[in-house]
Amino acid sequence: MLRRLRFRLLVAMSAVVLIGLLATALIYLRQAEAAILAEHQRALHKVTDAVGSSLESIMEGGHAEVAAEFTRRLAGVEGASRFLIVRTDGTPAFQDNATIGRVNARLGYTAFAVHEDRPAPAPIPEAARDEFAAVVAGREAVNITTVQGDGERFSLFLDPIFARPMCVECHDDGQAVRGVVVLETSFRAVERDMSEARVQALFGLAIAMAVTMLLTGYLLGHMLFRPIEGVTRAMRRVATGDWDHGIAVDSKDEIGQMASSFNLMRVRLKANYLSLLAEQDKLTTILLTSREGVVVTDREGGVVLVNPAAEEILGKSTAEIRDEGFERIIDQPGMIHSLLIGEQEASRIRVLYRGRMLAVGASMICEGDGSVIGSAALIRDIDEEHRLREQLSSMARTDELTGLFNRRHLDQRFAEEFDRMRVCGRPLAVLIFDVDHFKRFNDEHGHEAGDRVLRGVSRRSRETLRCYDVLGRYGGEEFVAVLPGLHSGDATPVADRLRRDIELLEVEGLRVTISIGIACTESVAAESPAELLAAADAALYQAKAAGRNRIEIALSA
Ligand code: GH3
Ligand code: MG
Ligand code: MG
Repeated sequence: MLRRLRFRLLVAMSAVVLIGLLATALIYLRQAEAAILAEHQRALHKVTDAVGSSLESIMEGGHAEVAAEFTRRLAGVEGASRFLIVRTDGTPAFQDNATIGRVNARLGYTAFAVHEDRPAPAPIPEAARDEFAAVVAGREAVNITTVQGDGERFSLFLDPIFARPMCVECHDDGQAVRGVVVLETSFRAVERDMSEARVQALFGLAIAMAVTMLLTGYLLGHMLFRPIEGVTRAMRRVATGDWDHGIAVDSKDEIGQMASSFNLMRVRLKANYLSLLAEQDKLTTILLTSREGVVVTDREGGVVLVNPAAEEILGKSTAEIRDEGFERIIDQPGMIHSLLIGEQEASRIRVLYRGRMLAVGASMICEGDGSVIGSAALIRDIDEEHRLREQLSSMARTDELTGLFNRRHLDQRFAEEFDRMRVCGRPLAVLIFDVDHFKRFNDEHGHEAGDRVLRGVSRRSRETLRCYDVLGRYGGEEFVAVLPGLHSGDATPVADRLRRDIELLEVEGLRVTISIGIACTESVAAESPAELLAAADAALYQAKAAGRNRIEIALSA
C-alpha cells in the first residue's frame, strides 16, 4: 500500500501535522498550566488579603479577643492544610502572654485574655526560611512550593500584614510589617485541573488531527491523486499497446496540461508506430520475396534472420543455419570472416558452393556511433549467370565453324606469347598454313563438303600440335599456329609433320593438302607479332608459288 504515492504522502503529511499539532499543544499546555498556577496564586492572594483586612478591621474595632478567636478558626478552613497568622518572629499571633500583658497594660484594660496555662508558642518551621525573612523585610507576598514525605506537593503562601497608624498604640516597635498570613494548600486540586487541561488538549489534538487529515486526504485525492492516477492508468495502457486510450482533459491546470500533452504524444507516437509497422511490412515482403539470400545476426553473432531465398540457395533450413553459425553458412568460415573484416578487395566474392557458383557479400551492421550491432550476409546464386558468361566469353574467342580460336583471340594470344618468350629470351615460331586449291575443291564437291574438310583439317592440326601451341583460324581456309619455345630447326619438322598428317587425312573419302609458311624469332628480326606473321605469310606465298603441299621458312622480315 505504501508503494502508492497517495498513501506515502498522507503518512508523511500526518507525521508533519502531528508534530505541528503536538508542538502547539505543548505550548498551549504550558500556558494553560502557568495560567492555572497564576490563578491559584491570585486566589490565595485574595484570600490572605481578605483575612488580613478582616483582622485589621476587627482589631481597629477594638475586638481584640474576637481577632484572636478569628485566627484560631482560620485553622479549620476547608481546603487549607494550614491557615494561621504569625508574628514577624514566626510565632502564632495572640498567644504570647508577655506581649498580651504588655498590650493590656498599655491599653489600660484586658483586650486579650491571658491563658496562664498556655506554654510559650514556638515559631513555625517556615520562619527559618529566607523567604519568610524576605516577606517580613520586603513586604512582598511569596509563594513557596514544598514537597512532603509522601511526595504530595503543597503551596505555602506568605502574605505580609502591614502596620497601620493605630497599631503603634499597642506596639511601638516601629516595624512596617506587623505579621504574616500563612496559608498552606495542597496542589492536588491544581494538579487535577492541569491534568484535565492536558486531557482536553490531547482530545482536541486528536480531533484536530483527524479532521485535518480527513480533509487533506479528501482534497488531495480529489484534486491531485485521482487525475494523476487517471494519467498513470492511460500511460500503462498505452505502454501495453492500446494506443486508442486517451485521457479526459478536465482542467487547464498543470495536470490538465499534462493530460493534453500526453494525448498529443500518444497520437504522434501512434502515427510513428503505424508508419514503422508499414515500413516493416514492406521490408518483410522484400526479404521474403527477394531472390537474394539474406542472413542477419545480432550483436553476439547469433543468427536472427534467414529469408526463404537463403534457405533455398544454401540448401539448409533456418535451424541448420542457426546451429552451424553465421561464419559457416557457405561452409568456408575463413571466407566470411575475411569479408567481414574487409580483407577482400570486392564487397562480393564468387564462391563455388556445393558445385554451384554463388556471389557472397558479408558486412558488419553499425549504429550511428560506429558500434557493431550485428552482421549481414547477402548470397546470390550466379551459377546460371556464370555459365552464360563463360559461354559468351568462349563464343567471343572461338571460331564457330572449326572450334579453334578466332582471329581476334588468336592475335591476342599471339601477342601474349610473343612478349612472354621475348622476356624469357626464348625463341618462338609461327606457322601460317592455307588449304591448296580450295576454291576448286568447293566448286567440285560443294561448300558443305568444304566446311566438313575445314573442320577435319582443324581437328587434325589440333591433334598434331602440342597442347600449349596456340592454334586459330586466321580467315577462310587459312590457319595460324604459334609455337612458343621453338626455333626454326624445331619448327620445321613440326610443320612438315603437320603437312603430312593433313595430306593423309581423309574426310568422307576426300583429301586436301596444305602449304605452310614458317617464321621464327631467332631467324627473322621481327619487332612485333605482325612482322613475324608477315614473314611467315611471305614464306607461304613462296610455298604456293613453288608448287603447294610444302613448307617454306622465312629467313628475314
Ligand atoms: P590456293 O590457296 O592454293 O592458291 O588456291 P585457293 O583456291 O585455295 O585460293 P583462294 O584464296 O583464291 O580461295 C579460297 C577459297 O576458300 C575461296 C572460298 O570459296 C573458300 N573458302 C573460304 N572460306 C570458306 C569456308 O568457310 N568454307 C568453304 N567451304 N570454303 C571456304
Ligand atoms: Mg587456298
Ligand atoms: Mg587462301
